[in-house]
Amino acid sequence: MEIRIGKTTLSLVRGDITEQSVDAIVNAANSRLAGGGGVDGAIHRKGGPSIMQECRKIGGCPTGNAVATGAGRLKAKYVIHAVGPIYRGGDRGEPELLSSAYRRSLEVAKEKGCTSIAFPSISTGAYGYPVEEASRIALKTVIEFIEREDWFELVRFVLFTDDDLKVYRKTLEDLMKGQGS
Ligand code: ADP
Repeated sequence: MEIRIGKTTLSLVRGDITEQSVDAIVNAANSRLAGGGGVDGAIHRKGGPSIMQECRKIGGCPTGNAVATGAGRLKAKYVIHAVGPIYRGGDRGEPELLSSAYRRSLEVAKEKGCTSIAFPSISTGAYGYPVEEASRIALKTVIEFIEREDWFELVRFVLFTDDDLKVYRKTLEDLMKGQGS
């Protein structure tokens, strides 16, 4: 699924974030930037050790924020390490922190001059965020940024499973119909 907002194409695809030919891919990192499973493991495995070397130098990143490193052997130019919240029921600031992780990723990518960016579904794996809720926050935050800035050519969500793609697609359709707010 693909929509156009100003000069930006917003697309939803099923796939592997490590295979994306975009300026920046976003990692679902932890606040110590210490590496882990899921997307994080795949990015470091495929990108090689230079990414972790840069992460160690940076030292860490608070939840809701994002930092950039090079992308090692990956096709992208940068990896933006975004730290989403661990889901603990939803009333401990998780929505704001998740939104902030997306917004900061876009800001950092823009500061680096990137005009194309790919996101995984941050926090919905090991961090346990329910994907329906997370998809609404992710898409609303990204759409708000695109409408405000009109900077990116491409913002792509790369969903790892068909089920996640279906959820994101339904959420985007609902948001387009004005039902998602
Ligand atoms: P978090 O700790 O933020 O929840 P995870 O990496 O555990 O991060 O999961 C986030 C999402 O990324 C999950 O939906 C998971 O299925 C998905 N995922 C795992 N590997 C990849 C990959 N290579 N490309 C894209 N998405 C992936």
